[in-house]
Amino acid sequence: MFLDLTLEFAKSLDQNDPLKSFRQDFLFPTFHEKEVRYFTGNSLGLQPKNARKYILEELDDWEKFGVEGHFMSRRPWYSYHENLTDMMAKIVGAKPLEVVVTHSLTTNLHLLLVSFFEPKGKRTKILCEAKAFPSDQYALSSQIDFHGLNAENLVEIGPREGEHTIREEDIIDKINQLGDELALVMIGGVNYYTGQLFDMEAICAAGHAVGAKVGFDLAHAAGNVSLSLHDWGVDFAAWCGYKYLNSSPGGVSGFFVHERHANNNALPRFAGWWGHNKENRFEMKPGFQPISGAEGWQLSNAPILGMAAQLASIEVFERAGMDRISEKRTLLTSYLECVILNVSEKSKALCSFEIITPKDPKRRGSQLSILLHGKGKEVYDALTNRGVIADWREPNVIRVAPAPLYNSFEDCYWFGQHLEAAIQ
Ligand SMILES: *Cc1c(COP(=O)(O)O)cnc(C)c1O
Repeated sequence: MFLDLTLEFAKSLDQNDPLKSFRQDFLFPTFHEKEVRYFTGNSLGLQPKNARKYILEELDDWEKFGVEGHFMSRRPWYSYHENLTDMMAKIVGAKPLEVVVTHSLTTNLHLLLVSFFEPKGKRTKILCEAKAFPSDQYALSSQIDFHGLNAENLVEIGPREGEHTIREEDIIDKINQLGDELALVMIGGVNYYTGQLFDMEAICAAGHAVGAKVGFDLAHAAGNVSLSLHDWGVDFAAWCGYKYLNSSPGGVSGFFVHERHANNNALPRFAGWWGHNKENRFEMKPGFQPISGAEGWQLSNAPILGMAAQLASIEVFERAGMDRISEKRTLLTSYLECVILNVSEKSKALCSFEIITPKDPKRRGSQLSILLHGKGKEVYDALTNRGVIADWREPNVIRVAPAPLYNSFEDCYWFGQHLEAAIQ
């Protein structure tokens, strides 16, 4: 709880912030005549300063070596993705064998669903959260269609009447109720709309107890919250790189496959040559031999320019460390929450709003979702006019996500000032 909401106090919080210098590693948008306050790292992360340098290095090496760059460039393209593996594994709490950076999120989800959604006998159902991100809904329904099953096999769990977030106990009850009909639990680790962080460990244990597989979409969790995918025993997970992980617009993503599946060649799999044994890949012979671990699910050779941007960003994560990032995130989000609640109190005659994200810091990441009652879009537009970049979701929610690597307490202070003025 922060009682002092003055600019001086925000500045003193920044002074004492061990991660304050990391702001300098990123480029802030300059399109607005006002100073931009950027709160949409949950939608598109900012450009790391080194992204340009690393991409230019690859363009230089392409110019200099042409195809020989696969082996002769300073970071040979043949194995480029391996430069990212160890650092990415730390971000998601995994062993390097369990992680690979490749493709895009929805592509990866499909590849993993092919392997981990194996409906058999009466075990045919998928449990997901109600109002999951549309791409996930489409992916899951199309997988169900692909197996010739009817739509009832996609079971949704939502908030209770009059509530905004889903109760953990309701998820667990639903898993137990579905029991031996449940083939897969697939939930977003952090809900994109409310910012609710689910207890992935408990969900995973409950899913496994009834014999189901458990996977998570970590689009809003990777690089945002602390994860221990290996220890939790999650079967698989996928995330996008361009949100908290700043991999560039539409940039490369990554995924996780638990060690216990590393050498399970009985799993169905849609294969491609980049998943094939590295020793004899270029012999180009028939007969797919998957690499053990997550790399065995790769289809294609890596898009090097996109990989270069992702490398620039995760090197910053490596230097900052997820523990320190999480510590700052808790403090920064709590501070922003106090700022917003203070504005709500002062402005309640003009505009009423509430934060629908869980209050418990353990049940949320960086994002706070503000539900406005009444003139929401006008407030959002006025905020944008004042240089605040937040995110509007129909019907009436403004999402704000201070990213610990580059947002300051002062940014949050100014968010409050602009919100108050926008309501006026
Ligand atoms: C952002 C997001 C996506 C986007 O998928 P892409 O394949 O990267 O376009 C999918 N699912 C969730 C939960 C997301 O937050």
